[in-house]
Amino acid sequence: MAEANSSNPNTSTSTSSDTTTTPAQHGWNGSAFLPSDSWLNRTKNFYRMATSQMSAAGAEQYWWDSDQRTSGFDCARCEKNRDELLKTSPIIVYMRHNIAQLGGNLGAHNIRCRTCPEKAEGGFDHEYGIRICANYVGTKKKLEDVMAHEMVHAYDHLRFKTNLDRDSDLRHSACSEIRASNLSGECRWANEFFKNGFMKLTNHHQECVRRRAVLSVMARPNCKDDVEAVKVVNEVWDSCFTDTRPFDEIYR
Ligand SMILES: [Zn+2]
Repeated sequence: MAEANSSNPNTSTSTSSDTTTTPAQHGWNGSAFLPSDSWLNRTKNFYRMATSQMSAAGAEQYWWDSDQRTSGFDCARCEKNRDELLKTSPIIVYMRHNIAQLGGNLGAHNIRCRTCPEKAEGGFDHEYGIRICANYVGTKKKLEDVMAHEMVHAYDHLRFKTNLDRDSDLRHSACSEIRASNLSGECRWANEFFKNGFMKLTNHHQECVRRRAVLSVMARPNCKDDVEAVKVVNEVWDSCFTDTRPFDEIYR
């Protein structure tokens, strides 16, 4: 969490051949990301990005910087949608009710909209609550899926006392990821269909849940690699895919 997002104010415009450049040329030929504190620098950054001249490290900084500058807008939209969903979305209201029955209390105070430096849609921590990555969750529909997903983790934590942290059994995480992807609506067929083009529809829902669960398990700090993720997801698949609590069946 610490070092990834420093916005590196020391990035200079000088490159090896800079000694004889004219002021007009200066900086335009580089590939680094320039501090975005002036209109000229922002224009140069955009130009470098648009013409594929930006270095890989520069590109990473470019998007981070861009997210920071739109962060207020992203988070305000996220919070507005969150508050509406808490009142009107059937799946969110239902999950919230079931979490409350287990002694939990999820609401606007602990479902927080943030700008995330890592590429993620959201996360759950039993002490922090739910974090929504406002910079990767654009629409209200998408937010509904992400909130439902994280609420399944919260439910599992309360119901099965799973701590989805570094020291816990990876099979508990795998089980919760399978359930979260299965129940949240993230694998509605249209969702995936339009994203991935024409993929085969046979067993589509199951394949989608499995794929998403493996990716989520892989991202866990206590998972070694993709081989381990696939193995663990397979081990718990049968019991966790069919466990649709608190729903009677897959909601949609
Ligand atoms: Zn998850």
